[in-house]
Amino acid sequence: MPILSLGTIALDRISTPAGRVEQAVGGSAVFFCAAASLLCEVRIVGVVGNDYPLLELDFLRRRGVDFGGVAQLPGPSFFWSGEYSEDYRSRATLETRPGVLTDFDPRVPEGWRDSRMIFLGNIDPKLQLALLDRTEGPALVVADTMNYWIEEAREALMQLLARIDVLIVNDEEAVQLSGADDLAEAAARIRSLGPGVLVIKRGEAGASLYGEGWSHSCPSFAPDRLRDPTGAGDAFAGGFMGRLERDGRHDRVALCRAAAFGAAAGSFAVEDFSVERFRSLTADELAARAQAIALAAPPPVEAGGRTAAQRGGRQR
Ligand code: AMP
Repeated sequence: MPILSLGTIALDRISTPAGRVEQAVGGSAVFFCAAASLLCEVRIVGVVGNDYPLLELDFLRRRGVDFGGVAQLPGPSFFWSGEYSEDYRSRATLETRPGVLTDFDPRVPEGWRDSRMIFLGNIDPKLQLALLDRTEGPALVVADTMNYWIEEAREALMQLLARIDVLIVNDEEAVQLSGADDLAEAAARIRSLGPGVLVIKRGEAGASLYGEGWSHSCPSFAPDRLRDPTGAGDAFAGGFMGRLERDGRHDRVALCRAAAFGAAAGSFAVEDFSVERFRSLTADELAARAQAIALAAPPPVEAGGRTAAQRGGRQR
């Protein structure tokens, strides 16, 4: 069944050591769909202004992304401008203009309300909550957020955390959200607020998953080239959830396998500006890179530091 996704559909101005792009298609929902659509069908809920080059997203439509939940409103699209440091390790947001996002009320088309898997991409937590209110009994709700919302909308974010199954954040956001510097402690505190599973993205250091009584480190993959890190986190979520949908389950084994697909999707995202790399990327290329990542990953660790193999359990 298709994943129901919500997020920004943006126009980005991005400057990196490799160059600069203007009016580039981006946004959390777009990067998510670019990755997830290689693995499964996706439904998208979002908003664009009348300046949005929707034709540039036709490659997603051809891959089975259903734009039936995208509203087009008079006014400018959500705009974001960011600049990366010489070593790509830090990024400054130069400008964020919400545009039509200010008046956006996420509508879920009638036939989509019973979607089983929901991805609440990075956007105002009030909108994430509104979308959840308009769905019926999903099996898995995964959400993403960022420093901006942790600062500006903490109360709504707390309400959201109580209603989701998996939260995906980066290491800085995990520290900011929890108040704990140590990532394992940060994970414990955030999990106590609601999500049973926390995924912490750590850039080149990979991603760490924390569940009830277990954790898992998923390595990163050195991309063929680095041009623009924008959207890597949303692409991670797309690869992660796409794989979970394909698996039809979300237990520990499936989550760890899905993390490798997330890491693979993120590593492809950074190889070019905007969603350019996804235009030609195939599902086979994604799967091959995910397999290489999974092979390099250590087995999950249980509480107390033992792996399942050390306990005598079966490894899959
Ligand atoms: P990431 O690099 O994974 O953080 O995602 C970058 C994308 O997020 C860009 O394409 C932006 O348009 C979008 N974005 C930037 N700021 C926000 C925000 N406050 N809320 C939602 N999306 C945002």
